[in-house]
Amino acid sequence: MTAAHHPSAVTAARRTHSRAAFAHARHLIPGGVNSPARAFGGVGGEPIFFQSALGQRLTDIDGNTYLDYIGSWGPMILGHRHPRVMAAIERVLTTGTSYGAPTEAESDLAELIIAAVPSIEKVRMVSSGTEAAMSAVRLARGFTRRDRIVKFAGNYHGHVDALLVAAGSSAATLGVPNSPGITEGTARDTLVLDYNEPEQLDDAFRAQGDTIAAVLLEPVVGNMGLVVPTPEFLEAARRLTSRHGALLVFDEVMTGFRLAYGGAQELLGVTPDLTTLGKIVGGGLPLGAYGGRADVMDHVLPAGKVFQAGTLSGNPLAVAAGMATLEELRDTSPYAALDRRGARLEAGFRAAAAQAGLTTWTARVGSMMTTFFQSGPEPVPVTGWKTAGPSDTDRYAAFFWGMIDRGIYLPCSQYEALFFSAAHTDADIDATIAAAVEVMGGMAS
Ligand SMILES: *Cc1c(COP(=O)(O)O)cnc(C)c1O
Repeated sequence: MTAAHHPSAVTAARRTHSRAAFAHARHLIPGGVNSPARAFGGVGGEPIFFQSALGQRLTDIDGNTYLDYIGSWGPMILGHRHPRVMAAIERVLTTGTSYGAPTEAESDLAELIIAAVPSIEKVRMVSSGTEAAMSAVRLARGFTRRDRIVKFAGNYHGHVDALLVAAGSSAATLGVPNSPGITEGTARDTLVLDYNEPEQLDDAFRAQGDTIAAVLLEPVVGNMGLVVPTPEFLEAARRLTSRHGALLVFDEVMTGFRLAYGGAQELLGVTPDLTTLGKIVGGGLPLGAYGGRADVMDHVLPAGKVFQAGTLSGNPLAVAAGMATLEELRDTSPYAALDRRGARLEAGFRAAAAQAGLTTWTARVGSMMTTFFQSGPEPVPVTGWKTAGPSDTDRYAAFFWGMIDRGIYLPCSQYEALFFSAAHTDADIDATIAAAVEVMGGMAS
């Protein structure tokens, strides 16, 4: 896609083991990766293979180290191998890793989630964010006895058939808003509107409000790069769903426990009917969850009739890692410090772009941020997919590889937010800004 910005020969030579590992993996695994966002398709070049991580740092299989601004795409808010999380996992290794039967730890984690997230009165655990979104959609349809789901262009809710329509992140990068294998019938029940456009929601509900089961959205979007909602948009979504008997579902797989302990809904003061969780809730192990109003959740089997199940749901290792992560977040509340460091990073990136004369739009909430590179003379505010989509991805690729050369591991796509952790120090942030000044300065000339 961006052949002009392949990594420089110098740093490519430092990654010969990664290159060989990728060549090998491509014979065995489609595209050499188990999830497309890892393939570096959005920036050209080849993915880096890792061998270990600690705190805020990653080490690749050639022995190079990087400051990590992906954090496994969100889960690692405490940094890698946090002692409290490691100790919790080790305890489980001495008892049992899966029973396919209930454990008390699952109720302990449920209690933590319910206490943290304003909208959640009851919660069901699954194994991924995709599964959480899929299950929430089925529940919304079963509860309302309606078919239609409203989603927003550039919002990603996992690779659920009904939701992989105008999806963001790797779907956006790869240009597969409608994947082959998704039937027209499935796509027909999904209504795609523009984010931050409350009039479109108004029109949709006026025309077909009695067919809409749910409005599903990322309350702060991370999957087309970072996009902040307007209060009017969220207010319209809450008011119209309530008025028309539809459910409001917040996909907080990325924002849950990230933007505040209670997620974006705590930060923004809007309470949905259902919430999906993933990423941080599993502390780096595979765990997702969906929860909300007790009267809705009681429609899930075996309390109710909406089927949803999982052999490894509530897996002891994942539950232990999730609990330790949530307890540490609850006890230490790193959110003010994360926001302060985020403000420092944001100001640094803005200044670097201005100094280099590059047109950019930087959006941030707490420890999530995106700098959109643009090709016009003046920055265009990014409010949805219509303004995120036309970003200058070639410039982003040049920036990405320049930062890799300097040991800074950013998301390998313009359409993914960066994340940092409580382990990142002021010195790390300053080193990142210094690298950005150099790289952007070089891009201007
Ligand atoms: C990552 C993500 C998902 C999918 O979660 P997986 O665990 O990758 O299946 C769903 N929704 C949002 C908002 C996400 O960021």
